This record gives sequence, structure tokens and C-alpha cells, in this order.
Amino acid sequence: MGAEYNPYDNVLSVVENAAKILGYKPDEYETIKYPERELQVSIPVKMHDGSIKVFEGYRVQHSTVRGPAKGGIRFHWNVNKDEVRALAAWMTFKCAVVNIPYGGAKGGVVVDPGKLTRDELQALARRFTAMIFPIIGPEKDIPAPDVGTTPEIMGWVMDTYSMLKGYGVPGVVTGKPLEVGGAAGRKEATGRGVVTTAGNILAKHDIALRGVTAAVQGMGNVGSITADLLHREGAKVLGASDVSGGLYNPNGLDIPAIMKHVGAGKLLESYNENGAKRISNSELLELDVQLLIPAALENQINASNAKNIKAKFIVEAANGPTAVEADAILEKMGVVVVPDILANAGGVVTSYFEWVQNLQRMAWTEAETNTRLVDIMNRAFAEVWDMAKEKNVSMRTGAYLIAVRRVVEASRTLGIWP
Ligand code: NAD
Repeated sequence: MGAEYNPYDNVLSVVENAAKILGYKPDEYETIKYPERELQVSIPVKMHDGSIKVFEGYRVQHSTVRGPAKGGIRFHWNVNKDEVRALAAWMTFKCAVVNIPYGGAKGGVVVDPGKLTRDELQALARRFTAMIFPIIGPEKDIPAPDVGTTPEIMGWVMDTYSMLKGYGVPGVVTGKPLEVGGAAGRKEATGRGVVTTAGNILAKHDIALRGVTAAVQGMGNVGSITADLLHREGAKVLGASDVSGGLYNPNGLDIPAIMKHVGAGKLLESYNENGAKRISNSELLELDVQLLIPAALENQINASNAKNIKAKFIVEAANGPTAVEADAILEKMGVVVVPDILANAGGVVTSYFEWVQNLQRMAWTEAETNTRLVDIMNRAFAEVWDMAKEKNVSMRTGAYLIAVRRVVEASRTLGIWP
């Protein structure tokens, strides 16, 4: 990530553009340019060697005008306040574009979770939860997993919150293990939404998922499930990568074998396949495929590599993978970009289902969850597509026109208290 790259500036410029097209006066959207509440914490952890380490953490609530704040917790060494702010704002607009009753939030801790023991990780997650306890809760702000955090960690978040309350509160966090109130289908939900959206955008161009060539950057929760579902739909995944680098097989990678490998917690650098050659992450992004799915981190497609992209369709599984300058270049090249706030919303939609089930003490079947998820993703896609066509703008601008209008109208309806 370049030193000058500020993801929150990225958010502001996109919002500003959408608000202007919608004809809002600056006063009408002034408040959504600022996060409502930010908490910075210093999290002490006793390490296994007896030493004390203090980690920096954040919880940022961007907006609560459409409902309680909602958003994941990221454990990554690159976490910083501006990144968490941007991720929180993206959550606000994501929940608005799929029209679920949430605002947006995000949390982050500056840590490389792979370097901690399991006990240290648990101590960090529990102490972080205790320190953000005053501002989270099922009616206020509901965390979930993101990069570097897992269902198991969400279980620890729930347990810590519950212990402090004195009773079980499953609705405080989503993405939990099934045994403690998680939703069937949540783990696969983001990838399922990405593949549903990829199918929708290809169908608009008379292309079937079956037989389409694809590359996926990132083999974590979102990327690996996306690759797996694409493969099951008959797409040919030629390229895949993770933090250790990538692989390319012109005949299609053996996705079930890769799923087994990454599912065991291993990196692609230790995976071998006949006919596959090793490539770098930048080569992965520039592969000659029809469909490119960035599913790792922000700012992967930027001013310096956008012109080298060969895919005709980019479906953003990660949050913020395309920088604003790259968007303009890709648009000129005729590349269709389906934006993150639409494409990866499947995770928060199923998180919403999990929360609803927790509040009602009910459990839906996985089939019920998936049907409702796909319905919402299809409806949101159709709305964004129609808006983009009507205003003759990109899918990203179309999505923001819908989202910004929903947030601004909610905010105007409520007014400013007192
Ligand atoms: P994860 O931690 O499970 O996986 C991240 C993956 O990215 C790993 O395979 C890692 O090796 C890889 N990676 C890290 N740095 C990389 C680099 N420089 N180049 C290539 N690969 C790299 O995280 P995740 O939950 O799968 O999240 C991935 C993206 O999807 C993030 O942008 C996240 O915000 C977004 N997202 C996640 C969810 C969710 O439900 N988990 C929902 C919506 C959006």
C-alpha cells in the first residue's frame, strides 16, 4: 500500500460525486462525511513468554441513521485509523444498497495474528471486546469477522460480552460458530453473493458462468469460497493467489485440491500442481481471463497497474480493491467493475439473518438462508443495474446513488437532535 494512499479520501470522493449527481446541497450530506463515533484502545496482552505487549485497536461507527452499526473486526499489521474509517463507511453504504436495517462500523487491531499463539489470540480478542464493550451490543453495534478473524474469534467476542453482561447475548456478534448461534450458510455467504453477482453481470452480457475463465486474488474465507463456487458452476479458475504469491494453470486449477490445502491453514507457496506455474500477485491481476475477482485487500488495482488489466469484468469481493484513479482508467478501457458495496454484501446480509435469528431465538435451515440471500442479492443487483443505465454511469456510481440517497433521506427524516 503506497504511503500516500488514504482509503477514507477514496470514500469521500465517491460519496461527494454521488451526492452531487443526486442534486443534494452540501448541507444535506455534510454529516455522512464524518464517522459518528470513534474509539481507540490500547490492548495489553500477557504473552506466552511472560512479557507484556500492548496492541493498538479501533472501533469506528460511521453511521447509525438506518439502524444499529454493523461491521467486521480486522486483525492485520496494516490496520490504521483511516483504513478502519473507510471500511466503516463502506459498511454504511453496503447495508443501504442491499436495504437491510443497519448503519456501518468497523473494528481493527494492528497485529499479525499468525504470529500469536492461540492463547495469546484469545486473550487479545477478549480484552479488545472488553475495551469496546461500552459501545457495542445487539441494539447498538454488532461486529463480525473480517481479514484475520474467524468464527472461533467471534465466539470469544460473544462469550466475553455475555460474561460482562451476566447472561448469554448471541446477537452481539455475527459470523459465530454454528454451535453458539451462528447461521447455517454464513461462512459461505460472502462468496455465494459474489458468485451470484458475477452470474448476474455476465448474464447482462449474454455470457454464462459455465466455461467463463476467472482469476481470484486472496484464498481466505471470501476468495476460497468464491473460487470453489465458481468451479462448481463450471467456470474455469485459471489463477489464484494469497499473501505468499499465486498460481496459474491455463487448463484450470484443481480448485478442490486447493480448497483442501488452504482449508488446512496452509499457504499456496507449499501447494504444487502439475501444469501450474508460480506467478506473483501483480501477474495474477493481469492474467488474460474474462473475470477477475480481487478478494484480498484494498488498493490492489491502482493507477500504476489498471492499464494492464485484461479481464473485461471485475467483481469486487474485497473491500476497496480498486483505487479511484484506476476506476477512471478501467471505465475508459470498457472494463465493467461491479463495486464492493454490492458484490460482497452477501456476508452482511447473512449476518443480518443470523442476528434476526438470535434476537428471535430461532434457527433457519441453510436452504432458507441461501434462498433469501440470493433473492436480496438479485434484487439489489437489478436496482443498481437499472440506476446505472438510467443515469448512464458506472455500476459503482449507480450503487452509490442508491446508497447515498437512502442514507441521506434517513438522516433528513430524523433531523438533528436536539
Ligand atoms: P481472510 O483473512 O480470510 O483472507 C485474506 C486472504 O488474502 C488470505 O488468503 C491472504 O493470504 C490474502 N492476502 C493478504 N495479503 C495479500 C496480498 N498482498 N496479496 C494477495 N493476497 C493477500 O479475509 P476475508 O474475510 O476473506 O476477507 C477478504 C476481503 O473480503 C477483505 O477485503 C474483506 O474486508 C472483504 N470482505 C470480507 C467479508 C467476510 O464475510 N469475511 C465480507 C465482505 C467483504
